[in-house]
Amino acid sequence: MLSYQHAYHAGNFADVHKHLTLFAVIDHLLRKSSPITYIDTHAGRGIYPLAAEETRKLQEYRQGVAPLWQARQALAEEPLLHAWLVSLGRVQQRDGELDHYPGSPWWLAQRLRPEDRLRLFELHPGELDHLARQHLPDNVRRIHGDGLQGLLQRLPVSTPRLCVLVDPSFERKSEYAEVAKAVWSAMRKARHAVMLVWYPLLPAGRHRELLEGLRDHGLRKIWCSELSLREPVTDERGMYGSGMLVVNLPWGLDERLAAAMARITPLLGDTATYRDEWWVAE
Ligand code: SAM
Repeated sequence: MLSYQHAYHAGNFADVHKHLTLFAVIDHLLRKSSPITYIDTHAGRGIYPLAAEETRKLQEYRQGVAPLWQARQALAEEPLLHAWLVSLGRVQQRDGELDHYPGSPWWLAQRLRPEDRLRLFELHPGELDHLARQHLPDNVRRIHGDGLQGLLQRLPVSTPRLCVLVDPSFERKSEYAEVAKAVWSAMRKARHAVMLVWYPLLPAGRHRELLEGLRDHGLRKIWCSELSLREPVTDERGMYGSGMLVVNLPWGLDERLAAAMARITPLLGDTATYRDEWWVAE
């Protein structure tokens, strides 16, 4: 049963971490002219009005995108953050106000060129209805179905380059191992793909299954970064941090992201930390 709805969490610190990483990867890929297929295996709604009932309930964006938006003038000195915040400004409807937060379909579509393609998978019919109402370019397809199966069925793609975002809700414990298997299988069919995978940091530590699964399958060139709001507390159940792994991270992006994250981490609270490492080297 699907019960997760991203609207309850839109714009939180994990979204900032995920979408800034995605933005940096896209920015790098666009330095070359050859066409790209983008696949978003777990798309969600696309755009989230912060005034929506679900988002107002937890207001997680207050410890996520909101402090960055407030500090945007100071952050403009940092080139990646400046570009990200300018893009974020484009979805706002009232001048100078933060009233919407864009999800991955928007971040992927906003710099799509006519020669590129974007495939968005969403399994939840209600979330797909929201996504269907978003205005997106003609070379975007919204597909109702399982994103991991859909990804594997579409490989290899006909464009020279491929970039995939895997962003599940991890509602089932088995999803960590399933994602590891799907990413490994996909990379066998598309060795040069840049593949981004988001994972939650929870006290139970199940994300280790995902990371170790990929390493044990023999996948190489895996970089990962983790943004934590606090140290894990074993008797608590909530998410304390956000993880991103990128297979085939383009050269130099680790340093670019570290510089941007160093600026924003202190804005997320006194106990917030950021770290990155090559989980498996080339
Ligand atoms: N990627 C989105 C973003 O960054 O804005 C957020 C995605 S949210 C974390 C996960 C989404 O995956 C939910 O909308 C959920 O309905 C959907 N979902 C769950 N299982 C799925 C599956 N097997 N295939 C495709 N979508 C799925």
